[in-house]
Amino acid sequence: MSTVKNWQLKRDMEYAYDEARPKRQWAIVFDLNKCIACQTCTLACKTTWTSGKGQEYMFWNNVETKPYGSYPLGWDVNVLEKLGKQDWAKNGSYEGKTIFEAAPPEERAVHFSPTDEDWMYPNHGEDDCVGSQDSGGHVGALPHDKWFFYLPRTCAHCTYPACLAACPRKAIYKREEDGIVLIDQSRCKGYGECVRACPYKKSMYNPITRVSEKCVGCYPAVEQGIQPQCVVNCIGKIRTMGFINPPWKARKDNPIDYLVHTKGVALPYYPQLGLEPNIYYIPPIHADRDYLRQMFGPQVDGAIERYRTLAKDPVTAGLLCLIGSSDRIMHRFTVANGVATGFDERNTELVKVPVTEPIIERPAYDEKLETVRNNTP
Ligand code: SF4
Ligand code: SF4
Ligand code: SF4
Repeated sequence: MSTVKNWQLKRDMEYAYDEARPKRQWAIVFDLNKCIACQTCTLACKTTWTSGKGQEYMFWNNVETKPYGSYPLGWDVNVLEKLGKQDWAKNGSYEGKTIFEAAPPEERAVHFSPTDEDWMYPNHGEDDCVGSQDSGGHVGALPHDKWFFYLPRTCAHCTYPACLAACPRKAIYKREEDGIVLIDQSRCKGYGECVRACPYKKSMYNPITRVSEKCVGCYPAVEQGIQPQCVVNCIGKIRTMGFINPPWKARKDNPIDYLVHTKGVALPYYPQLGLEPNIYYIPPIHADRDYLRQMFGPQVDGAIERYRTLAKDPVTAGLLCLIGSSDRIMHRFTVANGVATGFDERNTELVKVPVTEPIIERPAYDEKLETVRNNTP
């Protein structure tokens, strides 16, 4: 085991290999306040990557309803239960053990193995809400004693992937150019160690080809400067893909760095597992705070507070307006004079959006067309 730096835990930790950060790291930010669980992302990925034989059950991108939904069933509660109660220190560093540090000597990570049946119900628990729905219970004592939220998930192309650590064939590798984690299909022998080890359950076994597969981060698009399928097809415009730097190299004009490091409104999920996952979530402001703390860690209260006061923060508000406004990867952004602008890697302007949509009032009678317009409320 090697000692590596995990900035999400604010401490060093044990990992199977030496620290080897890529030149740049693929990352997605999701605004969970805006997801409507339309599953367009799920289908965009499915029709692009997993419509073949043996892939019928696979959803490299899935959207589950929290707290009751999960794909595969119980992926989160199982690994948390196996890890046992752990805690964060008051200064925000993680005091507990990661799945690597808590593993028994013969294993690389604490893990559980879903059964075939666990993979069969990707939408189990959809729209199930916490709190009684009996006889008017949906009104109850407002505000928000009933809650649920949607959680879209892809592979997190982790900085310290458990799938890679567990593979005895060294068939899994992390690309130096963008940090995308891939399985070399010609080296994989289908032992399924990655499927067992990934706590997020984003490595999947194909029973027809008898090798494992996973989200490929849409690398052919990313190499062309285009965002992944699940991102560009998002109906709610809740997600943006870009490249994240570690905090000591963060750039304020990089959209992902800004949301994660500068502003601190987007957080990794289950950072305590120790993988330094690279999908980041703006937490839902209405959900139970204890639940959110165990999912996103102690930073969640500050993140929600900052999100709630966006009206006083035109830069963050402007950046959020840029999300979903271009299919190209945004490397830089500016917000000035009420306009947010995104730029590509060559610093060419990609898109401009107003931070506040102008309101245009038209007269009821249009003299040019000699017609009266009706506004239907
Ligand atoms: S497409 Fe966007 S809004 Fe629809 S479920 Fe996926 S992440 Fe949510
Ligand atoms: S989310 Fe799972 S499959 Fe993806 S890189 Fe991390 S450990 Fe591997
Ligand atoms: S990044 Fe590409 S491969 Fe991965 S979940 Fe999204 S669409 Fe699927």
